[in-house]
Amino acid sequence: MQGRGPEAGAPAASYWEPEGSGIRCLLCPHRCLLPEGGTGICRVRHNRGGKMELPHWGAISALALDPIEKKPLNHFKPGTKVFSAGFYGCNFRCPFCQNWEISQQIEEADIVAPADLVRAALKSGAPSIAFTYSEPTVHFEYILEAAKLARKAGIATVLVTNGCLNEEPARELLPWMDAVNVDLKTWSEESYRAQLGGDRAAVLRFIEAAAGTSEVEVTTLIVPGISDSGGDMDSIAAFIAGVDRRIPLHLSAYFPNYRYEEPPTEPELLAGLMQRAQKKLDYVYVGNVGGFPENTVCRYCGAILVRRHGYRVDSSGLRAREPAAGARTGRAGSRALCARCGRETDIEL
Ligand code: SF4
Repeated sequence: MQGRGPEAGAPAASYWEPEGSGIRCLLCPHRCLLPEGGTGICRVRHNRGGKMELPHWGAISALALDPIEKKPLNHFKPGTKVFSAGFYGCNFRCPFCQNWEISQQIEEADIVAPADLVRAALKSGAPSIAFTYSEPTVHFEYILEAAKLARKAGIATVLVTNGCLNEEPARELLPWMDAVNVDLKTWSEESYRAQLGGDRAAVLRFIEAAAGTSEVEVTTLIVPGISDSGGDMDSIAAFIAGVDRRIPLHLSAYFPNYRYEEPPTEPELLAGLMQRAQKKLDYVYVGNVGGFPENTVCRYCGAILVRRHGYRVDSSGLRAREPAAGARTGRAGSRALCARCGRETDIEL
């Protein structure tokens, strides 16, 4: 569907259809049925006059220049900054949300058109732009337009997402994203459904699809009572390994926030889960807490490729080269070489 909506500059919404007296949203697995004047679970897609409207199109909640490692992405342009844009709204209801002020509330905000966002990213000097902080995919039309403009301007694109998107929109969006970090919040289908308001099967499909188009990394926030089981960690690691054992997994320490008051994740628990995941995966990183190994070493010769201390990053162990044939994801990437042994690494510069 093409055309312009009533909001200044907003395009017509995609992925919906009329149904009875309302409209059905087809963007994510919730498949919300929106009555006239109503909105979906994400609160950003509205039925006005029998059409899907996007009243929060371009409403930016936050703009910042972040280290790329903060997304977290450890194998994509290490040591660089990423121009990061956040929105409002989310299709999940995680009780421990670390960004609930913008994901679970909608506020008035200045409208930034995609072209202006890309201009600001260019001005910042960052080599990449990220759609992040709240859930970007519920603003599908905006991030798709901005990603296309960014590519045209020579800026790499980054998506940080819960991965809860239907297959068709995911197929349309992912080829425009150079790197993707997907939250795999728990292995429990029941927790996904009952505690988070999400759909595990859709997230798993999204990770598989992203691995075919983009540098993909997965994050699991280790929340007591939701994602702290050793057996579930074995299943998460086995699933990722089934896609590609070289996909990095970030285990992130939780701290009480929003409506969840369990104490912070114990370092001993993180260490145990890290060891279990390392049996199946080549790269497991622990974040949001100190005291864990942070470096990436060459799989062949053991040289340190990237040395990290918090957000201080030294990637002098890598050597750039032209895109290699047969890269891991099958796309035209630019995997760096190990500066010591000269073999291909799993890191994109
Ligand atoms: S994108 Fe929003 S409105 Fe559409 S199905 Fe998902 S939660 Fe519902």
